[in-house]
Amino acid sequence: MRKLHMWPSETCGAVQIIGRDMREKKVEQYDVVIIGGGASGLTAAIYCGRARLNTLLIEKSLMGGLATYTNEIENYPGFPEGIGGLALMELFHKQAKKFDVKFKLTDVKSVDFEGDVKKVETFRNIFECKAVIVGSGGRPRTTGATNEEKYLFDKGISFCATCDAAANTDKTVMVIGSGDAAIEEGMFLTRFAKKVIVSVIHDVGKMDANEIAREQALGNPKMEFMWNTVVDSFEGGEQLETVNLKNLKTGEILPVVVDSCFEFIGYEPNTEIFKEKLNMSKRDYIITNEVMETGVPGVYACGDVREKELKQISTAVGDGAIAGVEAEKYIAETEVFANQIMQKERIGMIYVYSAIDAPSREMLPMMQEIEAAYGDQVKLSVIDQYKGQRLCDRLACDVDPMTIFYTEDGEVVEISSECDRPSIFDMLNKLVAKPIEQTA
Ligand SMILES: Cc1cc2nc3c(=O)[nH]c(=O)nc-3n(C[C@H](O)[C@H](O)[C@H](O)COP(=O)(O)OP(=O)(O)OC[C@H]3O[C@@H](n4cnc5c(N)ncnc54)[C@H](O)[C@@H]3O)c2cc1C
Repeated sequence: MRKLHMWPSETCGAVQIIGRDMREKKVEQYDVVIIGGGASGLTAAIYCGRARLNTLLIEKSLMGGLATYTNEIENYPGFPEGIGGLALMELFHKQAKKFDVKFKLTDVKSVDFEGDVKKVETFRNIFECKAVIVGSGGRPRTTGATNEEKYLFDKGISFCATCDAAANTDKTVMVIGSGDAAIEEGMFLTRFAKKVIVSVIHDVGKMDANEIAREQALGNPKMEFMWNTVVDSFEGGEQLETVNLKNLKTGEILPVVVDSCFEFIGYEPNTEIFKEKLNMSKRDYIITNEVMETGVPGVYACGDVREKELKQISTAVGDGAIAGVEAEKYIAETEVFANQIMQKERIGMIYVYSAIDAPSREMLPMMQEIEAAYGDQVKLSVIDQYKGQRLCDRLACDVDPMTIFYTEDGEVVEISSECDRPSIFDMLNKLVAKPIEQTA
């Protein structure tokens, strides 16, 4: 026998202190917990808050995420004059607050996605919820060279050509790396900069990029290559002025005067706490489908933390909106499932049919008649497989029509594709306290 899961819906909003085994952490309940306060998480929060879900967003450092590190955002629609990253993210935050989203500035340490009640754990709390949206983004991989920290982001070291190319018009820039991203972004930069110097770790002519990109780059008059080099240190005043490269063969230090340096040596997703809990790509990004489902019911991922093509604010916003809407649908369907379908008062009979299939649709009146014949002993629920795919997945029904019978305890006792009158009467008569004669 299979027991179907139900929501402890009456717990929402309650606060309790739980015992020794969970280190006296305070437990709070929400409908949705969002991990990460970047563009994707804040957008998901706006959608969840507006849908009147009891929503908590947890951010570990700066509300607004990576976008706050950039001075000027010129490609986010709606701001033809451009807007500062911090200013834009403050607007996102303000809008989410307007819809009563709660915020906590703390680090999520671990998650438990088993079962219907998800748990998100921080240093002091355990947040229980019905759905989780992961928008934890990522961080660009850095070289680890001397003074790198000092010049990160708007001080001269950038990680985003799409974002900062225009600000380097007629300037000299350096690109670190020789993979596809480095070479393709480097070529993009040549449309703006007067010179793009590429530091490549390999021997002359060798790159990690694909062959076509390599050939195009070698033929680009604005690109200059410094082979067998790595960054030794970054130097300057307030802003970056010089990148000291080290020749790996000779050990020679080569100072290169630049206006900016773009590092493209990879990107690391913030997914450590989700390992073995969610499906990840080889590069440790979370794999989702196009509605941001992770494969774990009720857990969604959005923004840069997903395995996807273009990592920008506009795409993070789109992902966050979808994740918010899907989380809301999931919670609503789960509540229908718990409160209406898996009611615990009578013997239950669920008829799964398809509204676009005439024979299965035409059996609906017969089902209603049978329910009426049993008086208050049987409760009939009807699911249109075409519209309620998620509910059908939950009930593991993949064909229609189909009838599912369960006891008052929610124990499924029969899943049957035989939906004829005698079979249904036979089954119900085995379950009810007062069997009845089959009606015509
Ligand atoms: C320098 C720079 C300039 C850019 N410029 C542009 C631009 O001009 N235009 C554009 O469209 N895009 C730009 N981008 C890209 C853009 O910033 C990202 O695509 C966007 O921020 C992704 O949003 P996100 O919400 O997915 O992730 P993020 O912005 O990375 O937000 C994720 C958040 O999750 C938090 N977090 C992570 N782990 C935890 C945890 N365990 N607990 C709690 N919180 C956690 C992080 O602190 C972070 O705030 C730029 C990126 C950089 C680095």
